[in-house]
Amino acid sequence: MRKRKFRLLRVRGLRNRWMLSSMLIILLLVLLGLSAYGVAIGGYYYSGVRTALRSKASSSSAFFSNYVTRTYAEYYQSAYRYTSLFDERDRLDLQFISSSGRIEVSTYGLTAGTQPGTEDIAKALETGEAATFLGRDPSTGERIAAVSSPLVYGDGRIMGVIRYVTSLRLVDRQVLVSILIAVGIGLGLLLIVFLTNLVFIRSIVTPIGEVTAMTRHIADGGYGSQIENRYEDEMGEMVDAINDLSIQISQSEKVKTEFISSVSHELRTPLTAITGWTETLSYDESLDAETRQKGLAIVLEEARRLTNMVEELLVFTRIEDGRFTVNIEKLDIEAELEDTIFTCRELMRQEGISLEYTPPEEEIPVIPGDPERLKQVILNILDNAAKHGGSGKRIVVTLSLQKNYQDSGRDFVCIRVRDFGPGIPPDELGNVKLKFYRGSSKARGSGIGLAVCDEIVRLHNGLLDIDNAADGGCVVSVRLPAGQLIVNS
Ligand code: ADP
Repeated sequence: MRKRKFRLLRVRGLRNRWMLSSMLIILLLVLLGLSAYGVAIGGYYYSGVRTALRSKASSSSAFFSNYVTRTYAEYYQSAYRYTSLFDERDRLDLQFISSSGRIEVSTYGLTAGTQPGTEDIAKALETGEAATFLGRDPSTGERIAAVSSPLVYGDGRIMGVIRYVTSLRLVDRQVLVSILIAVGIGLGLLLIVFLTNLVFIRSIVTPIGEVTAMTRHIADGGYGSQIENRYEDEMGEMVDAINDLSIQISQSEKVKTEFISSVSHELRTPLTAITGWTETLSYDESLDAETRQKGLAIVLEEARRLTNMVEELLVFTRIEDGRFTVNIEKLDIEAELEDTIFTCRELMRQEGISLEYTPPEEEIPVIPGDPERLKQVILNILDNAAKHGGSGKRIVVTLSLQKNYQDSGRDFVCIRVRDFGPGIPPDELGNVKLKFYRGSSKARGSGIGLAVCDEIVRLHNGLLDIDNAADGGCVVSVRLPAGQLIVNS
């Protein structure tokens, strides 16, 4: 239950993390876009108002400068007429302002005589250039846009300004509406991204949940279980990989169980013989000398077989964990082989198998090799020939020197063991050197013998070849390099 809670928390975490990171970026972008849009739209509207007022003001001031050159009364009259006829009064306030900053004539009569006090007036009076103001009217507090353009005497003196004022209420509203629309679009965008993210994350999180549950089932011992692959993307590849892993674990579990059972069986057979014969020899005093001798020989042989088997297992575990090495010395391989054959011949004869050995015609050189390990290889191959090819009742061993073997420029000493049994089925030939591989042969075995032999021969820089003879039976060749330095690896 606790495990399950932990899993859910993790899944939720993934969803949150994804949402947070992607939404944060989009939110930032939307905010950035909105600010840029706000600045642009504000600039566009306000500068539009300013430009329109400015062009109006400059053309009016050019027109009135003519009157200014005449009498003040004439100017005042014209200004009064001009303002009274001004037809844009509902949108604009037109003002004539004296050099002291006071309104003399205005379309909005109530303001006459007052002093607006905005910076555009002072600036226009001071510089003789048109000036603008955008902000709050000091007297009303309303947001306004104003442009003041100077009225200049013929001699260049400034007599006052002509000023257009408009309320920014409508423009402000326009700007606000535009920004609100943009914010709405931004929020809509965020919502769309949120929803698509939600769908996308669900399409990842749900399969991950399923795959995790199944993987946990496999980890809990459901080896070989398969996850239904409904995905064609990276998730599909992951499911395939987990399915493969599950099958491989199940196969190696099967191999392990078979191995343990075959090894136990292998150990039990000699142990039964040893126990049986020792009991007989200890308690049955009526046994004649010959039977006693035979019993002791069997006990010895079975004990030897057990020793070999344990030795093979030890070597195998050392190979597996990379601790296996060979102790190379100068080795008289011919003497070693003859010795081993001598040991085995009698035992095989008792099983009805004839072990034939013809000494080599050429002189066999001393080779670099590990006597113990190479003896183990020969014994193993002879044991295989006896147990798997025993029905042929004949094993032939030869030793030869192969100079410049296959034009390799190297000389090899070759030990060849041939039996006359059924041989190895062609489709099994490629696998017999694999660890735990036991072919279709019905004979006892753990399936590690040839794997161990192969590793020992490899550490001698030699070659182990297994094949079927043309006229039946199996041929195993061990080729060991003659007279060359071997490096342990
Ligand atoms: P095992 O302990 O089973 O003998 P090995 O690794 O020595 O394991 O051999 C692997 C398999 O190769 C054997 O199970 C058998 O099927 C096949 N094999 C080996 N030697 C012979 C042979 N001389 N004749 C027929 N089959 C053989």
